[in-house]
Amino acid sequence: MARYKAPLRDMRFLLNDVLDYPGHYARLSNGGDATPDVIDAILEGAATLSEEVLAPLNLSGDDEGCHFNEGVVTTPAGFKEAYAQFAAGGWQGLSFPTEYGGQGLPVSVSVFKSELMGAANWSFYMYPGLSVGCINTILRYGTEAQKKQYLPPLVAGEWTGTMCLTEPQCGTDLAQVRTRAVLQPEGTYKLSGTKIFISAGEHDLAANIIHIVLARLPGAPEGTRGISLFIVPKVLVRPDGSLGERNPVVCGSIEHKMGIRASATAVLNFDDAVGYLIAEPNKGLEAMFTFMNTARIGTAIQGIAHAEASFQGALPYARERRSMRALSGKKDPDHAADALIWHPDVRRMLLTQKAIAEGGRAMIYSAAQLADNLFNAVTGGNQVEYQELDGKLGFYTPILKGFLTEMGLEAANLGMQVLGGHGYIHEHGMEQIARDARIATLYEGTTGIQALDLLGRKVLLGTRGKCVRDFTATMLRFSRQYLLAGGAVGKMARSLARRALQWNALTARIMLRARSDRELVGSASVDYLMYSGYVMMAHFWALQAAKAAELLANGKGRESADFYRTKIQTAEFYFARLLPRADGHRKGALAPTRSVMQIDNEHFAFD
Ligand SMILES: Cc1cc2nc3c(=O)[nH]c(=O)nc-3n(C[C@H](O)[C@H](O)[C@H](O)COP(=O)(O)OP(=O)(O)OC[C@H]3O[C@@H](n4cnc5c(N)ncnc54)[C@H](O)[C@@H]3O)c2cc1C
Repeated sequence: MARYKAPLRDMRFLLNDVLDYPGHYARLSNGGDATPDVIDAILEGAATLSEEVLAPLNLSGDDEGCHFNEGVVTTPAGFKEAYAQFAAGGWQGLSFPTEYGGQGLPVSVSVFKSELMGAANWSFYMYPGLSVGCINTILRYGTEAQKKQYLPPLVAGEWTGTMCLTEPQCGTDLAQVRTRAVLQPEGTYKLSGTKIFISAGEHDLAANIIHIVLARLPGAPEGTRGISLFIVPKVLVRPDGSLGERNPVVCGSIEHKMGIRASATAVLNFDDAVGYLIAEPNKGLEAMFTFMNTARIGTAIQGIAHAEASFQGALPYARERRSMRALSGKKDPDHAADALIWHPDVRRMLLTQKAIAEGGRAMIYSAAQLADNLFNAVTGGNQVEYQELDGKLGFYTPILKGFLTEMGLEAANLGMQVLGGHGYIHEHGMEQIARDARIATLYEGTTGIQALDLLGRKVLLGTRGKCVRDFTATMLRFSRQYLLAGGAVGKMARSLARRALQWNALTARIMLRARSDRELVGSASVDYLMYSGYVMMAHFWALQAAKAAELLANGKGRESADFYRTKIQTAEFYFARLLPRADGHRKGALAPTRSVMQIDNEHFAFD
């Protein structure tokens, strides 16, 4: 089985050349310390931990899984030591404020780290990954006292965090949350109820777990307007910060899952557990959205992490394994057969994986720049800029989460396919990647829910198509520079310009028809999301190709000519072989609603 190797050359090309991160950091108020040397050292350090500590535990963690015994969860061998190393290295605190013990670097730095560590071992990364949203929620909505009490140990990685939304009767529809929170005379609350599917809900990696919990106050309005948010520590914290009594939050069991088996997914029973209100009463869901957006971008990273890991597993196999002769004649005459990599269909699979990983990475790293700017707008108190950036990031988020996790799953499946029957055999590690990748399209809002969020909330209701017009204006500005150019980049620019116009026209047609057809948004949304994803990825492939062509021509690049040529050729593959799928999704999005609604519910099957 191939060992994970951090794709640092690809990452540096994006950071330094395509997206000009050095210039971006220079403009940020908290970017002063993010010098190219510091970023390089962080990438190297994260790569070492990922390659040498986390990746070697990936298969064994999957084999062993987590253990449950009377409320106690034990993680697989090696996880505790690896987590201690992660915490001691200060990795949790990279992008959190220095006043709480973090290193105060821009948010994007954590994104790069997350990709590397997540690709090496997604199950492991779930534990510190969940803490990020918990920390962000307390940072944004906590009182000063709550921040002082909870943030330093969370930021240091001494404690971890969770998000407790889902209950047996509801995951998507949180209006149905039933967990109750009752005010106590001393101002705290007592929470009772059951939460299910809670990632990192119980484990042995850290001394305490801080649960962020959605619950209802007595007499709260029905639905989403009656939900509040609470901090519920596993172990109560004394005023001096030391750990006190165990809070009655008990892990009832852990799930037996298809994938991410080393990540504990807990059923948590709250039995008059002490909780502390965070944010205003009945405004909990709004506050939780801070949490969910962070988590959704984190989940989008899972798409590219698995695409990269699966590509890395498939490539050496395709080079070594031999089968039949290449169609154009013998390539390795000294051997009985030619390597798999000579066969066009195997190349198609490898290139699809590569295009997804590298195209998706560019999309995420670009969104990470928006997240950096958003953080600066918040800390600088610039409300107007904050609103604008929040809108932009809100538009990116469902596309990144929905499209990239679907594509990551495709890439993971192709990785298995390249290995043929061996891809289905556990020791090769490829089927584990596919199993681990499967959850990404489900949690943090399924693909269907991301699609409704994109088309219904962000595009139609929220902005009446303006978010698409803004993004396509960026595409047109870029493509205009190359419209008359010859070669591959000119061709891509012209294709991109056509897609920009087509995306707006598609949006306008759906908007018009949605006025008289109430089911249209729901029936068009997933096709619309996938269409948007393919077109957005095309933009980021064209950017990469144009930069590679420029560096190839002026000879000023840090990479080899082969490296740049391969970027252009991968972009050509994307435009020729993957982008045309957008046409099918466009047609699907415009198909009459009747095509999905006309069969009676009773007639889906006949006994
Ligand atoms: C391994 C794992 C880890 C998880 N971690 C966490 C965690 O840490 N914290 C947490 O709170 N939750 C967690 N979850 C829960 C997860 O977020 C939910 O399972 C997910 O949001 C879907 O909710 P559901 O399972 O109730 O499905 P449902 O809401 O019942 O949905 C079922 C299907 O119906 C579709 N659907 C539902 N409503 C609509 C609608 N209005 N329109 C169109 N389609 C619709 C959905 O897209 C889906 O395909 C985790 C789940 C798993 C499996």
